[in-house]
Amino acid sequence: MQIADSCVVSIHYTLTNSEGQTIDKSDETSPFAYLHGKNNIVPGLETELTGKSVGDSLKVTVEPGKGYGEVNPELVQEVPRSAFDEVESIEVGMQFQASEDDGQSQLVTITDIQETTVTVDGNHPLAGETLTFDVKIEEIRPASKEELDHGHAHGLGGHHH
Ligand code: ZN
Repeated sequence: MQIADSCVVSIHYTLTNSEGQTIDKSDETSPFAYLHGKNNIVPGLETELTGKSVGDSLKVTVEPGKGYGEVNPELVQEVPRSAFDEVESIEVGMQFQASEDDGQSQLVTITDIQETTVTVDGNHPLAGETLTFDVKIEEIRPASKEELDHGHAHGLGGHHH
């Protein structure tokens, strides 16, 4: 079986940035499982995995445009420190769900703290990064109807709910 849309694929992976630092990796004992063809992984990696088989290993370099996007300066905002009054202590690197006026919520990261203001960044933490994935394909199986309805993989290495 080859990787195609509507397959659940289990992979072991190591993700490194352009400086060669490891940013993320799959659990040694349990591979990461995802539903192929539903944008559950970055587009640049999904494209390269299409057509591959169990046992294949590949190294994929993904430019920001096919990864987590370019950095959008408009998503960096200074807010009054009083906006965090309810939070016991804040530090650079903390992440919050911010609710927007339109009811959407967005994950923001604190990037700077001054006496009266806090800088928050709504860009994905990996925006602007060129990413390298070392991937080994462990398992490929057809997705269940429920998985297709939900748009993600269930079971080991997938969603639990
Ligand atoms: Zn589900």
